[in-house]
Amino acid sequence: MSDCIFCKIVEGKIPAKKVYEDEDILAFNDINPARPVHVLVIPKKHITSLATVVAEDTAVLGKMLAKANEIATAQGSPDGFRVLINTGRIGNQEVPHLHLHIVGGPEPVGPMLKRI
Ligand code: 5GP
Ligand code: ZN
Repeated sequence: MSDCIFCKIVEGKIPAKKVYEDEDILAFNDINPARPVHVLVIPKKHITSLATVVAEDTAVLGKMLAKANEIATAQGSPDGFRVLINTGRIGNQEVPHLHLHIVGGPEPVGPMLKRI
């Protein structure tokens, strides 16, 4: 997708601090970290969100999750972390290229959501 910011990171047209890459996925530091460790993991192929995945995306989605612990440990969160995937308007997704947030660091990340 030519106007997608994360596709541009995949293509090297926008710089990012890459922390993991293979033929299917890319992980890089969030530009505005919410915790000491805040990594975004994306499929290199453009997928807009969890609301648009198709059956053939199953393998890459599994790989994103399967690599999360290795990435978190290497970035300084070896004792656990949280994974978030914001989806669509209700999920407050800002960037319409599917991404998994890995957040963590030396301290617990706190409650999952603020209650209404
Ligand atoms: P969302 O709200 O869509 O789940 O999260 C988007 C995330 O992407 C935000 O945490 C934001 O800081 C991050 N982000 C937005 N633009 C860029 C960018 O150009 N580079 C990097 N590294 N992160 C970005
Ligand atoms: Zn994209």
